[in-house]
Amino acid sequence: MIALKDREIWFVTGSQHLYGDETLKNVAEHAQIIAHSIHDNQAIPVHVIDKGIVTTPEEISRICNDCNYSSRCIGIVLWMHTFSPAKMWINGLNILQKPVLHLHTQFNSEIPWSEIDMDFMNENQSAHGGREFGFMMSRMRKSRKVVVGHWKNQEVVDAIASWSRVAAGWSALQKAKVARIGDNMREVAVTEGDKVEAQMRFGFSVNGYGIQDVEQHVQAVSESAINTLVDEYKESYVLHPDLAGSESLREAARIEIGLRTFLEEGHFQAFTDTFENLGTLRQLPGIAAQRLMADGYGFGAEGDWKTAALLHAVKVMEQGLSGGTSFMEDYTYDFGRDKSRVLGSHMLEICPSIAHGDVRCEVHPLGIGGKEDPVRLVFNVGSGPAINVSLVDMGQRFRLIVNEVNVEKPEKDLPKLPVARVLWDPLPNLSIAAHAWILAGGAHHTVFSKSINTTFMEDFAEMAGIELLVIDENTSLRDFKNTIRWNEMYYHIFKK
Ligand code: MN
Repeated sequence: MIALKDREIWFVTGSQHLYGDETLKNVAEHAQIIAHSIHDNQAIPVHVIDKGIVTTPEEISRICNDCNYSSRCIGIVLWMHTFSPAKMWINGLNILQKPVLHLHTQFNSEIPWSEIDMDFMNENQSAHGGREFGFMMSRMRKSRKVVVGHWKNQEVVDAIASWSRVAAGWSALQKAKVARIGDNMREVAVTEGDKVEAQMRFGFSVNGYGIQDVEQHVQAVSESAINTLVDEYKESYVLHPDLAGSESLREAARIEIGLRTFLEEGHFQAFTDTFENLGTLRQLPGIAAQRLMADGYGFGAEGDWKTAALLHAVKVMEQGLSGGTSFMEDYTYDFGRDKSRVLGSHMLEICPSIAHGDVRCEVHPLGIGGKEDPVRLVFNVGSGPAINVSLVDMGQRFRLIVNEVNVEKPEKDLPKLPVARVLWDPLPNLSIAAHAWILAGGAHHTVFSKSINTTFMEDFAEMAGIELLVIDENTSLRDFKNTIRWNEMYYHIFKK
């Protein structure tokens, strides 16, 4: 997984030669101070590189070109310190391929009421310089993130920080390879989609592999490697007494090592499997998928390559944040008297990064698939805000659906439930949330995250140029239905 600390965002400041060298010297100085201040802020996970001021069409085109070709640069922050006539930006913006954040700020925080003169006004005119630039971005129909406020304001820095995380996830997707092992669960619709369109839109490639490609690696695993991993299981988790020294546990370790080797050798960042096409694998990968997710691999069950790719992108974004992110499925409802909630889980494959309390290692029958009882990690998830995100292929476009939820502690223990589980109260309530989700065509599989919020996914949808539907505390079904209808028209007319 790419490390955020190895990535850069470039801070570029627009101006012009109208004001004389003295002003431009000040502008460059101000830009440097702001870039360094943002770089040094603890919230910023990447390097912020001051790339100086640009004052001509040639300089602008050159920096946009350099940004495209830099392997470390994941996005560009543009600030119009003074007035940068925006026709100068057309050619540069035409070729720019990296995400843009338009920072609408000014160096000076407050108006110096008794001192202010025309020199001050000329030097601190971002208020209209930023609007000239905004017009051009809008005129060119360019997606971007706009952040408004003084650069020392922590909310402004936080907005740049979360955008830079999303840009890193976006950058990772451009090179990501998804292994679709064993194709799709038969007859399932939402996990399918147009892989060619997905690669054109998001950058990641999806290719199919037979289970024999994994079997070869599983068969080649040495007994000593299995011993080492079984010891790691024993140290890391609360091992069920039945599992100590059991053949099931050794087999689970063999599958994890074989699968991991397959993914490493193929340079994959995400994978899917399906319980119907397991060949000679003796268990459905449970603990293997769980631990690979915890290490940053994207995963989707039953051939769900869209969720697998999205999960990897979020794993890149969330580095260093607390809360965790997992593959998830809306499993069963609690239609309660006071309020209704969702119990989320999957057959096995929930990432322990979202665990709260003990993580137990257990083996239980699966009930479907006809294989041996698989080993899995079982745990609860702590309360607090989270999001469920689904990426679906609507035929002519991809749609991203986000539902904000509040995770709750289950009122009672679930002693017979053999899988990791999370209970949530969806906003605004289950009735509206599930209704809207179904109208939107949201999948049963999601990326569930406690580490990131809706803003991350809003930035992601902007970068990808895809539709975003948010279900939150303000959702009204009547408006939501109309949004879907209007979007249908918009995406027919507007092709990015
Ligand atoms: Mn499923």
